[in-house]
Parts: sequence; structure tokens; C-alpha cells
Amino acid sequence: MIEVRNLVKKYGTHLAIDHLDFKIESGRIYGFLGPNGAGKSTTMNIMTGYLGATEGEVLIDGHDILKEPEEAKKHIGYLPEQPPLYMDMKVREYLDFAAELKGIDRQKREEQITEAEKMVRIEDVEHRLIRNLSKGYRQRVGLAQAVLGFPETIILDEPTVGLDPKQIIEIRSLIRGLAKRHTIILSSHILAEVREVCDYILIISRGRLVASDTPENLERMLGEHEQVEIETYAPPSEIRLILKNVPGIEKIETRAANDSTTSAVIKEKQGEDIRERVFRAFAGAGVPLLTLRATGTTLEDVFMELTQKDSVPEPLTDGNTKWEEAEDDAGSL
Ligand code: ADP
Ligand code: MG
Repeated sequence: MIEVRNLVKKYGTHLAIDHLDFKIESGRIYGFLGPNGAGKSTTMNIMTGYLGATEGEVLIDGHDILKEPEEAKKHIGYLPEQPPLYMDMKVREYLDFAAELKGIDRQKREEQITEAEKMVRIEDVEHRLIRNLSKGYRQRVGLAQAVLGFPETIILDEPTVGLDPKQIIEIRSLIRGLAKRHTIILSSHILAEVREVCDYILIISRGRLVASDTPENLERMLGEHEQVEIETYAPPSEIRLILKNVPGIEKIETRAANDSTTSAVIKEKQGEDIRERVFRAFAGAGVPLLTLRATGTTLEDVFMELTQKDSVPEPLTDGNTKWEEAEDDAGSL
């Protein structure tokens, strides 16, 4: 188990980690989710002993990462955002070097390297120079390095960044395989990835933990408010007018769907079902509804709601647009 207590990290006057508290229990795949700059790498670097904290502590199976680094590090493997690979080494040579750095006994090394290579399926390339491998294979070598010593927990910082869609699928599948024997913590700024791979999510925004739960519970958390989506020829002002006196509406968001129609998302107050009322209001006004459908809150909505105060460079008309772009990064999986 890993305990992070009251963690604070300042870079000069910039507060990158703002009193983080969380626990990592054995046997799960944890997703550390947050926009770029949220503090994911900083937290992981502190958890793994690569960076000192300004305040707070990290206990790895009871061992303080700063006070007993050697003992604590035996329990974790780490693949940083920039994998520490030596391009002029051959794969097996590099893994031998990494095993030595980890203090793994010479007689156990051979066996462990063979097993790690097998786990991430790089036996075929073990005699090749790392510089000649594809990015996907290099990332696998990085994973093998993290696995050496078979620590209980493996920490992976944005393990699929920069990979093509096929490589992403392969790395995710390898990570799921590793999870059979190890607790995994992986960071990502891509919601789709975390939802697909992880069974517990920690959402971090501006160095703070803003939510931590299973994907299902996070969806439920803000999902109590169902919503109704409509599309009509009426402009936003007319939509608002028609719905003005309909009871049970919490909020209305409108946007131009195309040149001639407007779509609106109508959030219901808790426990209300407004579909029929919305239909009747538009029918009464003589304005046809082209679409009317109820949708639940998605994890995208939760994430946008929790992290929306983070820097968002481009002006956005709505949350969905943003996420369509973000998921393209992940290879549209
Ligand atoms: P993430 O991994 O979630 O993208 P980081 O942990 O890399 O976020 O960064 C968190 C914040 O700390 C950002 O605002 C970043 O600019 C800042 N930061 C990270 N590393 C340094 C550093 N070495 N010096 C100064 N600021 C840093
Ligand atoms: Mg990072």
C-alpha cells in the first residue's frame, strides 16, 4: 500500500502540488487523470523518490520514500514520462544494467530479465540496439525495466503518449497483463484511456485531488442530474422563452447545431423527468422538435466540471468539442 500524506510541492513560488492526500491499495489499476500541468508527473516523481517534496510524506508499504529510499524503492517500479533508455545499448544489455542499478542479485538477474522480456513481449528484439527500435518497442523496454525486481506496485507516467493507435492498443493490453501480478498506477490526460484501462480514478487539477472513485461512481456522482437534449429550428432566445415556465429545469445550454438549427441541453432538477413537459411546451408553441432524447451525465461531463478552471487555451463552445479533440490524441480508440 502507498500512502501520500499532505503532499506539497513548490517550484519557486509556484504551487504545483497543493496538499495531496490519497492511498493506493493493492491489486487495482489506478488512473491518475488530469490536464497537462495538473501535477501528475511531479507527484509521481515525488512518490518514486526522484524529487523531494516541499511538505508532506510518502509511505511505500510503511517505508518513507525519503528516509528509507532503498527499502521503499524495492516495492515500486517506475516508468517516467521520459524513459531513461540508453540508445547505444542493446535491449538485454540495458535491462541487465537496470537490474544491477536496482540491486538485483547477479544469479537472479538472468532469470528476471528473461521473465520481464516475456511479460512485455520483447524476447525477439533482445539483441537489438535500442536506437533501432520503434517507439512502441522502446516503451516496452521501459516497461520491462519498471517490472524488474517484480515490485508490488508499478508506476507509469503517461505510458502511451506519442505512440500510434496500434502501439497504444498493444501497450494498454500489456498493462492489463501486468495488473494480474502488480498494482498499477498510470497517469494520463486522456479520459478515454483511463476509463478503458483503470478500475479506480484519481482526478487531479491544479495540484489538488478533486475526485477519487471508481469510474461508475464518478459518473453517478454528478449523474444524478439527467439531461435532455433537443434540436429545433428555433433560435436560442425562443427556446428559452418556450421553456421559461416549464417546471423541473435546472439549466439550459444552447448552441448552434448547424446553419439552421439549434441544439440545447436541458439539465433536470434532481428526481424530475421533464421529457414530456418539454415535448408539450414545444408542441404548444407550434415549434417542432427535430430531436428529443434523454442522456445521463458521462465521465466527460464530470471531468470537465471538475477541471474546467484549469487553463483551456482555445475558446470552447461546449465540453464535447474539447473531448472529441482530446480523444483523437489517443488514436480515436
Ligand atoms: P503534469 O504531469 O500533470 O502535466 P507536471 O507535474 O509536469 O504536470 O507540472 C505541474 C506544474 O508544475 C506545471 O504548472 C508545470 O509547469 C510546473 N513544473 C513542473 N516541473 C517544473 C520545474 N522543474 N520547474 C518549475 N515548474 C515546474
Ligand atoms: Mg506529466
